[in-house]
Amino acid sequence: MKVEAKVRSVHRETHDVKTFRLYPEKKIDFTPGQYCLVSILDSKKHKNISKPFTYSSSPTKRYVELTVKRMGNFTTAIHNLKKGDRLLLDGPRGNSLNFDETVKEDVVFIAGGSGITPFMSSLRYAVENDLKNNITLLFSNRTKKDIIFEEELETINNKNGFNVVNTLSDDWSKDWGGETGMINSEMIKKYIDKPPRKVWYICGPPPMIDSMVDILNELGVNEEKVKYESWMIPGKGKNSN
Ligand SMILES: Cc1cc2nc3c(=O)[nH]c(=O)nc-3n(C[C@H](O)[C@H](O)[C@H](O)COP(=O)(O)OP(=O)(O)OC[C@H]3O[C@@H](n4cnc5c(N)ncnc54)[C@H](O)[C@@H]3O)c2cc1C
Repeated sequence: MKVEAKVRSVHRETHDVKTFRLYPEKKIDFTPGQYCLVSILDSKKHKNISKPFTYSSSPTKRYVELTVKRMGNFTTAIHNLKKGDRLLLDGPRGNSLNFDETVKEDVVFIAGGSGITPFMSSLRYAVENDLKNNITLLFSNRTKKDIIFEEELETINNKNGFNVVNTLSDDWSKDWGGETGMINSEMIKKYIDKPPRKVWYICGPPPMIDSMVDILNELGVNEEKVKYESWMIPGKGKNSN
């Protein structure tokens, strides 16, 4: 389904990430974890290009939010959008990271950087609906200033069975109270009891996905319990499971 949507507001999340609240002509019914293809209608240069972005808002809202990290030309053009500008959203698409609220097992989300967006939609949905599953988020960023949704994640941490574990891979100060280094087998074992009994969702850059899939395999997690989406640029390689 293709719908036109207008930018209602723009929120700066970090030095290179912004969230756009969009009002589509009609409500988009999606499952947390899905994405849409975005074109910029008011831009001659980008009108005929479409790139994938995940809904970061909960599907219960009339609006949708897209949280976009500035990478190249297209994402820079999105960052320059102002209130009232129009986008074309083609979606919902994808099923690899769809949040299954009927799942009985506890859930682990592993996110790298902007790979948090599908899980933010799922977490917001789970909070609103008071879902009973324990959910742990292992969230890896380079530095503290790269952590998207830091405050919101802090407010839900340790409530209703949610547990947020932040790790910084590149730069941290002595005041940093969280984990340091990339997510590895030891870190997973420290926070996740009996890994094979959980359902795992992973989203981030391709090298991170490969490494997480290998580690979970070594920890005895059945591959059917691991869902992932590697944010490779479409056409450049394998995208998802
Ligand atoms: C299913 C799916 C959902 C996505 N959802 C989101 C989302 O919610 N928010 C978001 O910010 N991005 C998301 N992305 C990634 C986003 O589509 C790309 O960042 C965007 O298309 C880059 O376009 P560009 O023209 O600005 O940059 P390009 O010119 O295409 O890329 C600039 C440079 O960055 C590299 N690059 C681009 N994207 C990535 C990446 N993700 N990881 C590592 N290197 C990269 C390219 O190889 C290139 O070197 C998603 C991707 C997929 C496949």
